[in-house]
Amino acid sequence: MAKVEKSEKDWREILTPEQYRVLRKKGTERAFTGEYYKESEPGIYCCAACGNELFGSDTKYDSGSGWPSFYDVMSSDAVSLYKDTSHGMVRVEVCCAACDSHLGHVFPDGPRPTGQRYCINSISLDLKKE
Ligand code: FE
Repeated sequence: MAKVEKSEKDWREILTPEQYRVLRKKGTERAFTGEYYKESEPGIYCCAACGNELFGSDTKYDSGSGWPSFYDVMSSDAVSLYKDTSHGMVRVEVCCAACDSHLGHVFPDGPRPTGQRYCINSISLDLKKE
């Protein structure tokens, strides 16, 4: 995987302020407000910061959380996982493996076959429709 490295100054120029807040400062968009939580068109969800292919629409499902939810990643090396102990919780943070931008979190309460729920901010994603 080719790593994408940019300065914070570069990211501020490339991203909108809200994208910068979520992707580079580990923010969270408000539930039920994002572009993709109800999206059902087929395609590939790419990293909004660098274009890395992250999730396929075939693994997207409605978790009821108000954020786009997927039960699997496109490939095991598409994302990096980190332990996140912020906000008094222990969660697993999901970041883009190429540019290390924050995408969301993964929880072990997803559907079969993986049992995983990748809970991802819409604003961190860019759907390339088929
Ligand atoms: Fe990325």
